[in-house]
Order: sequence, then C-alpha cells, then structure tokens
Amino acid sequence: MPDTRNDLMTTIVSLCKRRGFIFQSSEIYDGLNSCWDYGPLGVELKRNVKEAWWKAMVTTRRDIVGQDASILMHPRVWEASGHLQGFTDPLVDCRECRSRFRADHLEDTKTCPKCGGELTDARKFNLMFKTFMGPVEDRSATVYLRPETAQGIFVNFLNVQQASRLKLPFGIAQTGKSFRNEITPGNFTYRTREFEQMEMEFFCYPQDDEHWYEYWKNERFNWYIKNGIRNENLRLRDHEKDELAHYAKACVDVEYKFPFGWNELEGIANRTDFDLKKHSEFSGKTLAIFDEESKQHIFPYVIEPAAGADRATLAFLVDAYAVEGEGKNKRTILRFHPALSPIKAAVLPLVKRDGMPEKAEKIYNDILDNGIATFLDINLSIGRRYARQDEAGTPYCITVDSQSMEDDTVTIRRRDNREQFRVNAGSAVEQIRKELKEAGA
Ligand code: ATP
Repeated sequence: MPDTRNDLMTTIVSLCKRRGFIFQSSEIYDGLNSCWDYGPLGVELKRNVKEAWWKAMVTTRRDIVGQDASILMHPRVWEASGHLQGFTDPLVDCRECRSRFRADHLEDTKTCPKCGGELTDARKFNLMFKTFMGPVEDRSATVYLRPETAQGIFVNFLNVQQASRLKLPFGIAQTGKSFRNEITPGNFTYRTREFEQMEMEFFCYPQDDEHWYEYWKNERFNWYIKNGIRNENLRLRDHEKDELAHYAKACVDVEYKFPFGWNELEGIANRTDFDLKKHSEFSGKTLAIFDEESKQHIFPYVIEPAAGADRATLAFLVDAYAVEGEGKNKRTILRFHPALSPIKAAVLPLVKRDGMPEKAEKIYNDILDNGIATFLDINLSIGRRYARQDEAGTPYCITVDSQSMEDDTVTIRRRDNREQFRVNAGSAVEQIRKELKEAGA
C-alpha cells in the first residue's frame, strides 16, 4: 500500500492512465486544466455507475420518470433560478505570487497560504460559462452552458406531469453534463469545469417535505453502500444555516473519505417551492398543479438528491483499490461491486496452443452473444493475465487448460478470494450469469 493518502491518489491517477480508465484531456498538447477523458475501462465503469443510479431511481420505481433536457436553455431560466445574480464564488488573488483562491475555502482571507503575501479583497465571480447563439456575438445572443441539470426538470415540470399523468408525490430524474467555471478545480476528477450530474427532483405535498427529506437522505446513503462503498468511508453532514443555498430550507451532504479528506459526493436539499414559483413568475405560466383532494392549485415542495457521476466514479475507484499479499503473492486489485466492474468475465487459454485458444474463443463468443461485458486475453503468462484482470476489477476469469481439452470443463476463478472451481465449458456462461445475479449485478 502506498505510504500516505497523497501517494495513494498519485498511485490511482497513474493506474487510471496505465489501464485506460482516465486520461488527461488533450494530453498530446500538454493537457487542458481540469479536463479528463474516460478510456475504454473508465467509460464502462462510469456508464455502470450511471446505470446503477438510473435503475435505483427510475427503472425500479413506480413514482419516478426520466427526462433529458438540452444543455442550452432560454437565458431567462437563469434569471428566474437566481444563477445569473447569485451563482458566484468569492475570488481572491495573491498580490505577490498571483495564486488564486476561493475566499470561502481559506481560514485567513488576508494572507496567501502559499507565500504569505497579501491577498486582494474578494470579488464575486459568476461560475456560469457564457457563449453566443447564432453568428452575432452580442448581448441578445448570450446563452449559458447549464451549471446544473435541475432547471431542465423544473421548466418541463408540467409537460412531464401531464404527459405521464403523475400524481403527488412523484419524481423526475435526469443525468447529463453540467458546466461550472470553477476557480480552483483539482483533485483529479473531483472538481472539474465540465462534469456529469445525476439529479432527481421529488415533488411532494408541502406538509410532507420533512418526511421525504429524511427518506431520500437514507435512500441515497444506502445506494453508495449497496454499490460497494465501505461504511466507515461514508458519512452524512448536515449543512449549517449559513451554508444553505438561497433556495434551500435544509441540506445534507453525503461525504466520502477521499485521500484528500472528507468531501461531498452528493447533496440532498429541500428546495421548497422556490423554483416552481420563480419560473411561474418569470414565464407568466403557472407551474402549480390541481390537487384533486383539496380541489385547489398547489405548488409542490421539492426534495432534490443531486449527485455527480464523476465524483461517484472516483469514490468507487478509490474505495475498490487495494494491494494485498506479500512477495510473489502480492497483487493490486480493484474490488468493484460486480455491477460496476467494466469487464464481468475474462476468458484465458492457459497456453497459446493445443486447441486452447480456439476453445477459449468459443466461450468468449458465447459470453459476447449474451450481452455480458467480456475480454479474451491470450498473451503473457497466466499469472500476469490474472494480475491484469484483478487490476481492472474483473470479478471472474474463465480458464481453458489441458484438462479442458480432455473432459470439456473449464475453471472459474473468483477475483476476491482467488477461489477456483470447474464447470462444464458449455455451462460457463450460465454460471457467470448466476454468479452475477447472486452478487446483485
Ligand atoms: P461543491 O461544494 O463541491 O462545489 P456543490 O455543493 O456546489 O459542490 P451541487 O450544486 O450540490 O454541488 O451539485 C450536485 C453534485 O454535482 C455535487 O455533489 C457533485 O457530485 C457534482 N458537482 C458539482 N460541482 C462539480 C464539479 N465542479 N466537478 C465535479 N462534480 C461536481
């Protein structure tokens, strides 16, 4: 295991590059600050994280539906939501070394933590990225890249509610890219300027807001645990009154113990009826719904669990990372929950002759045809190939050996305890399917 928590982060960043999880963006041009690209293993991992979220929040629920709004929206949306006015961070510069900081991240807002120089007064810096729509670059053509996906849900509230004939309480979920011109991005993919969110707005009767707030707090905490995060590395932190966003009555963060400290993975906020009322006011179209029970129009309250796909992916990676054993038995392993593993089963012929590669290829094709993510690895010694799969987080390896050529059986090796057992080659896919199902994948 690396010596310090910082070394651990460096080790994970280099493993991510070496194994094709995450690369620096535009690396051949020396990279672009805070931008990252997901490679072949990384894209599968992140897709699986989003899929696990969608399954928990939409597919397996009767009371939540999905949507996918565009990134560019009418500029009035950001006036109504308060982002144009208030989505700012306090920026300070060091007069000596020119470093930039967020004043709210500093203990002493007068002195530079790097060189001891004097800091400027804090200026408000709006985090929204601006661009122009159409060929003319003037104020009337200014649009913004959305800083959160939530507003796309609020403005579609009635469309979705009416089209799906939903009754309170119900939720609308969405995943997608958001953009924030962060002053101090960093810590790998933890804080970037372009990132993906997984957000759900849960609309309820105003008097039930506290019940649903507690409910989503528990649900969301347990989602991370169910998908493999260790209990001791996860906690809930309630916001102090002075930390609350302008729209929130209450907010709690799900925090993960990253190597760089406890940090937010997800925020669960009680947004009250703030957004629906504001959009009604600014658009002139009421977003209140008719309540059959009380026979009047009401503005529902909103409980919002807002998570980050990149932050969650990073937490799952860090939590899965382990180095175990000594000497010849030492190995690096990513103990992903099988639902998140980029590759579910690798097929390995023991040697590259005696018909073993052909037999392995047949099993590999069978797994492919069943839509299970798989990989055929023929080169290198068997020990090194197992090591590569452990490091990619692959839960099962199927090996074709000389006995396979005699009795048509293969071995299945489980990643976590290296246990091996034999099954008929023809039932290998079925066995993998069974193992995945039992593991909840
Ligand atoms: P922070 O305090 O870390 O800036 P926030 O409280 O502003 O985050 P929210 O507005 O609650 O974040 O956004 C919901 C989620 O979106 C966050 O919990 C996080 O997972 C993700 N997120 C927000 N900003 C970023 C970013 N710059 N990079 C990556 N993910 C982000």
